[in-house]
Amino acid sequence: MRASHLLPMVMLSGCLEWNEFTEGDLRVRSAQVLPGMRGAMRIDVPVEEGEDVFLVRAQDPDNAFVYTITDPSGREVLNASDWWESAEQAALGVFSQPEPIVVWPNPAIGGTLTPGTWQVVAYAPDAEDFVPVDVVLRRQGEGRVLRVHLIADEGLLADDAYNQQLQVALQRWQDDIYAPAGIELQLRQSQRRLPEALGAPRSGANEALYEDLSADSALGELVVVLGSRIEGESGGIILGVSGGIPGAVLPSSQGVVVISGVEAAGSDGILSEVETWILAETFAHEVGHFLGVFHPAEVQCEDLATCPDGFPVEAWDALDDTPRCGSKAECEVSLGSNLMFPYPVCDRTGSEVSCVPQRTLTALQQATMKTHPDHHQ
Ligand SMILES: [Zn+2]
Repeated sequence: MRASHLLPMVMLSGCLEWNEFTEGDLRVRSAQVLPGMRGAMRIDVPVEEGEDVFLVRAQDPDNAFVYTITDPSGREVLNASDWWESAEQAALGVFSQPEPIVVWPNPAIGGTLTPGTWQVVAYAPDAEDFVPVDVVLRRQGEGRVLRVHLIADEGLLADDAYNQQLQVALQRWQDDIYAPAGIELQLRQSQRRLPEALGAPRSGANEALYEDLSADSALGELVVVLGSRIEGESGGIILGVSGGIPGAVLPSSQGVVVISGVEAAGSDGILSEVETWILAETFAHEVGHFLGVFHPAEVQCEDLATCPDGFPVEAWDALDDTPRCGSKAECEVSLGSNLMFPYPVCDRTGSEVSCVPQRTLTALQQATMKTHPDHHQ
């Protein structure tokens, strides 16, 4: 049984022509789509023989969301209304961001991509004009890598000791976290003068900067911004934020991962051994979000420091191989060593801090990351 359809399936949408180009194993199509009744947009995705993944993004319309995906035989393989009421985040990234992005197939749901015309229906109820839509298709193949362009604040890098530990953290991300998960990380580094405090991508802050930084990269290269601090609404410390779960392939005002370089080093400004590990894990965690992985469990405490062990956990990812847990303490035991756990699990005795290594990824988490078209040849 399907949950009730809240929106009519009758729709009209107009589209000017699609522009297309191919670069390496990625094929990119873009068009301006005019939403029809109630903001419905029908996006055709012509999948060619040998293509294994598509990513569809509707750019910037407020409150837009992906509703259904239909395969070439006319079978509906995803209906977002099935997930609206679910405690399991669908790992679809279709609900909570200003830019709805969907990657298909999805390891949480299964299925493969067959050749033919797929159809994605999205709604942009507030759009008053054409909506820019782009589709990225990836060709099957061996030897895929994840290219990351790290853009660091030049002030941070001016501190030699800091930079040295940063390089250690980057190496650990590469060798100790992503390599064991079967992801070859290729890192390119550059520096820029960045604002002292950066807004979280998706918060509406620094949009022009993020668009500019994400455009300053090759197609299929993921941009990570290492700034000083990230400004949050809650006033708590934010170690990093991803501009999407999953994030976009083409440049976007939200299409970056932002990491807080100063917060990572604590009050003394020096990256200790433990902090260097946490920085490595933060890079790996936030990029994991960008590639489409949710937290295996959400611990939605206001303040983690005072959050009781019995605090109930009521939301999980949709992957079958991450355990369900019912309370904060239980989740820390069963999932605390998972890379995508929402916060570092640390013990402080006097000045000594020890943290549970958070480096493991389940098979389905790894599969999700490798499905994102930024993982390509
Ligand atoms: Zn997270």
